Amino acid sequence: MSNEAGKKIAVVAVGGNSLIKDKAHQTIPDQFAAASESMSHIVGMIQAGWDVAVTHGNGPQVGFILRRSELSAHELHTVPLDYCGADTQGAIGYMFQRALHNDFKRRGMDKQAATVVTQVLVDRNDPAFENPSKPIGSFMDEATALKHRDEDGWVVVEDSGRGWRRVVPSPIPKRIVERDAILALIHAGFVVVGVGGGGIPVVEDEDGNLVGVEAVIDKDFASALLANSIDADLFLISTAVEKVALNYNKPNQRWLDKMTLEEARRYLEEGHFAKGSMEPKIRAIIGYLERGGKEAIITNPENIERALAGETGTRVVL
Ligand code: ADP
Ligand code: MG
Repeated sequence: MSNEAGKKIAVVAVGGNSLIKDKAHQTIPDQFAAASESMSHIVGMIQAGWDVAVTHGNGPQVGFILRRSELSAHELHTVPLDYCGADTQGAIGYMFQRALHNDFKRRGMDKQAATVVTQVLVDRNDPAFENPSKPIGSFMDEATALKHRDEDGWVVVEDSGRGWRRVVPSPIPKRIVERDAILALIHAGFVVVGVGGGGIPVVEDEDGNLVGVEAVIDKDFASALLANSIDADLFLISTAVEKVALNYNKPNQRWLDKMTLEEARRYLEEGHFAKGSMEPKIRAIIGYLERGGKEAIITNPENIERALAGETGTRVVL
């Protein structure tokens, strides 16, 4: 649905590379510089006439909070995962808001950005709760891992010879709790930052009260759900590659300009998309289109404007 001004709405899900370019650039000033660069392309898209809701990942940032929490546990209370999610939504939202503000000012645009701390409802009977699979936090030695298991109830697994890690459930997002607020802000002309890190996972208890849970929602899935929930005209995933490839990183690699929903399903089946990186994006797009979405694009931040002009990126359509 277009807003009052008749503009089209896009949900733009920005990936980890919009905050951390590489291991040597992880500080807050580095993250702000990377955020500013990505946001400038989103402003380009706004200038071209789009209304935008920006979503983002938070994996490394949550890892940093957990590590700080762990190192100071002798003195301070530890931070539950839902609070890590809320903390990172606020901090990343602040970076995006400031970067957007400065870019709007530079271009003489009368526009404002606002961040919505976003809870995302998951089903407490989601099978993911029986099968925690998403690794979070630091690597540990076996003794530390087993101590956390016994004393804190963590589920810990040995990660292919690299050490032990905590794993948490990754349930399917069911409902964006702050959906109406996000849409109202978009209709009022704001650029909205929301659903950060896939949203803060919450469940409803017997009385219908929301309770935060120790889980992580896939940011591509939650972003797709937001796109459907606000009837966005476009779901754009900004990541580290300009296009999606078949036979990725193989001698017979082929970059795709376009695929249909049907082709996306087939390529997914054929195993072209790596688990934990491209696969969830393609699954998210398939879900978005199946639920009535119109069009999706995958590209990298620097090519957002060109991709919208049809010059690059991978388009997925019905
Ligand atoms: P993000 O932080 O944006 O979610 P991910 O690392 O999770 O980024 O996913 C993007 C990565 O997926 C790309 O950088 C690329 O290395 C990888 N990838 C896996 N399969 C493919 C494919 N078939 N085509 C393009 N990229 C792929
Ligand atoms: Mg990812």
